[in-house]
Amino acid sequence: MSARILVVDDQAANVRLLEARLQAEYFDVCTATNGQEAITVAKAEQPDLILLDVMMPLMDGYETCSRLKDDPATRHIPVVMVTALDQREDRIRGLEAGADDFLTKPIDDVTMFARVRSLLRLKAVLDELRYRESSSAMSGLSGDIQDDVDSASRVVIVSADPRATARYAGAMPARVTVREVHEPGEAIAAARDRADLLIVDLTSAEYDGLRLCARVRSDAATRQLPILAIVRPDDVQHAVRALDLGVNDIIHRPVDAGELAARSRTQLRRKRYADRLRSHLDEGMELAVTDPLTGLHNRRYISSRLRQAIDSANNGGAPVSLLLADIDHFKSINDTHGHEAGDSVLRDFAARLLTGLRALDLAARYGGEEFVVVMPGAGMAEAQIAAERLRSSVAGSGFALRDGSRVPVTVSIGVAQARRGESLDGLLRRADEALYAAKNAGRNQVQAADNAAA
Ligand code: GH3
Ligand code: MG
Ligand code: MG
Repeated sequence: MSARILVVDDQAANVRLLEARLQAEYFDVCTATNGQEAITVAKAEQPDLILLDVMMPLMDGYETCSRLKDDPATRHIPVVMVTALDQREDRIRGLEAGADDFLTKPIDDVTMFARVRSLLRLKAVLDELRYRESSSAMSGLSGDIQDDVDSASRVVIVSADPRATARYAGAMPARVTVREVHEPGEAIAAARDRADLLIVDLTSAEYDGLRLCARVRSDAATRQLPILAIVRPDDVQHAVRALDLGVNDIIHRPVDAGELAARSRTQLRRKRYADRLRSHLDEGMELAVTDPLTGLHNRRYISSRLRQAIDSANNGGAPVSLLLADIDHFKSINDTHGHEAGDSVLRDFAARLLTGLRALDLAARYGGEEFVVVMPGAGMAEAQIAAERLRSSVAGSGFALRDGSRVPVTVSIGVAQARRGESLDGLLRRADEALYAAKNAGRNQVQAADNAAA
């Protein structure tokens, strides 16, 4: 995975060294030698990752990191802090400033590239979500990655040692719900149960922690679940394999409670942010495929589904039939009872339409008072029965209006089955001709299209 990385260090020699090592791995590198410059370059160049030295004159790394994370233009860029000393206080301060990870000087390549790859993968996912969100019908996500997310979060802690899980649980932020588990089967079940973070002790000899991580990553129900792994500090290979398997973060034993809390919070924030992007996307998709008045599918959606059904029929799959229904003299309902009464008739019509359909059938509002039903797998006979059922259910009893009165409504329906090799437009045209015939013959009736091959 290639990416652009911003290297920030006040020592020109350090910058050149890191630049050379990153370039050797085909990363694109930009540089800055102080905090202010780092912020300017980050905004202008939008790197995929920032390697940020902590000890710098004027604005230090913590301050620089806080400013990057406060600015909506740069807060989505992962920041790895580079510290001279492996000091607990430094790390916690950095995490609180919003840093995504740490490297200790001198930086060893294996660890650095594993961490960089892991953060770049995460960023790629978030970028994709952000992109889709911005191009979907519902854009303008107000929340951000820095929100406090402790409340209602669910954390699962896995270790064979009950004393260890209890200690880690004690380190969690106060409002987080914690579940302690001691073996992998139970861990999988707990992870699937709406967990927001999985903390796995990889030092337990009683089970294969890496296998557990791999299973969680490959299971569709838990693919997005962040994993924080606990490893021995001397076991670099283990940590690198974990990161390559998709573990999101690593913490060393003996586990420092403050650092565990800070790293957990970072993972929970990201999870909340990604969840929110996804749910906004779902809402956006929902709006894009649904008719707001009736809740039925809209024209765009039904057209694409109908096209798929026709393609499949043309490729030797099941037949597909179509109902095109148009309410009779609907204009006079509007004229007599008002537009709002017209709307309520349209909603009730949609409800009656749905009650007569099979689970497989797809109903859509095609235009004003015109509706389409796609019946995959149905031939002409079945489609005509469904059409007649709809016609009689509409004509059978009047539609209730707000003032308590009832207005009689009837509908005319054209039915057609896709011919071999027929196009979407061809099928719709024949259904429309049948509908037109039903109108001409006096309305409140079903007409079948001529289904002999053209
Ligand atoms: P026909 O039997 O020939 O189909 O007659 P019609 O009056 O139903 O057909 P026409 O196409 O002349 O009129 C349809 C009317 O539906 C006109 C339009 O104002 C009304 N309409 C379209 N969309 C809506 C809507 O969302 N709400 C309401 N209340 N009326 C709508
Ligand atoms: Mg009409
Ligand atoms: Mg009409």
